[in-house]
Amino acid sequence: STEQSVTVIGLGPMGQAMAAAFLDRGYAVTLWNRTASRADALTARGAVLAPSVEDALTANEVVILSLTDYAAVYDVLEPAATALSGRVLVNLSSDTPERARTAARWAAGRGAVQLTGGVTVPPSGIGQPSSATFYSGPREVFDEHRPVLEVVTGRTEYRGEDPGLAALFYQIGMVMFWTSMLSYWQAIALAHANGLTAADILPHATDTANSLPAFYAFYAERIDAGRHLGDVDRLAMGTASAEHVLHTNADAGVDTTLPAAVVELFRRGMDAGHAGDSFSALVESMKKAEA
Ligand code: NDP
Repeated sequence: STEQSVTVIGLGPMGQAMAAAFLDRGYAVTLWNRTASRADALTARGAVLAPSVEDALTANEVVILSLTDYAAVYDVLEPAATALSGRVLVNLSSDTPERARTAARWAAGRGAVQLTGGVTVPPSGIGQPSSATFYSGPREVFDEHRPVLEVVTGRTEYRGEDPGLAALFYQIGMVMFWTSMLSYWQAIALAHANGLTAADILPHATDTANSLPAFYAFYAERIDAGRHLGDVDRLAMGTASAEHVLHTNADAGVDTTLPAAVVELFRRGMDAGHAGDSFSALVESMKKAEA
């Protein structure tokens, strides 16, 4: 399709960046936000602030939603639900896969179709060719509106018909992002407690992070095959190492919540009889809600 106009609902940092990217590409942009003043910089560039959600919805077939979560989506759209018929809701608000599926059914019941999106970059990455967004929902709707989606991020990664899939891929990234960033904060806390700065440890932290993809690749096939061979590492060794990490942090007087949780996971694997297996065996206990 060649639509050159779009509606953006939700003008937090992300929605503002998206609206700006559409203006950069010459799109006619209609906006709505609960706090109207967040549209000021965009209306100064030619975007139109709709007086109501209904007006924002009826202005364009494609409606980008960039709200905090799906509860906010309902808060905004429910009172204007009669205007939803025929709309393509590109829902870039993040939430759980289950809530994405429920919202897709909710939209379908009102004559709209939802494409679920999971944006993998911060606002600075919006409009960039190398940035990526996961999408799921009806394939033909995705294909038809791809040029619009490619304005948001240059790469569009279609994951399947299930509206929950884009949210799932997003959450898989986020579980890694939050724990990885917290591990970095822990390393900095430990460094500071020992008179080192974040800048002092930056090269070492970067090398450590860069070493991880080789581990991901090495273990992926073995884990999928259920093979936790103790040929290159043993859980008993890993447990001793994780305890050294915990004690080093305790000795430095920094918070031990994160290293203690790591030791706890290792101990569960030991209790389950995996001392001689690879620490990849921890995936097996993590797949169950209780050890
Ligand atoms: P914000 O939470 O800052 O802003 C989202 C928008 O939601 C605002 O326009 C806000 O309106 C609106 N909103 C929230 N609650 C309600 C409500 N109950 N009724 C009406 N409007 C509401 O989010 P961001 O812009 O940072 O992000 C948008 C989405 O993108 C989120 O789901 C986020 O998880 C996701 N995301 C964000 C990234 C980032 O780096 N920021 C990266 C990747 C994804 P108002 O202006 O009136 O407060």
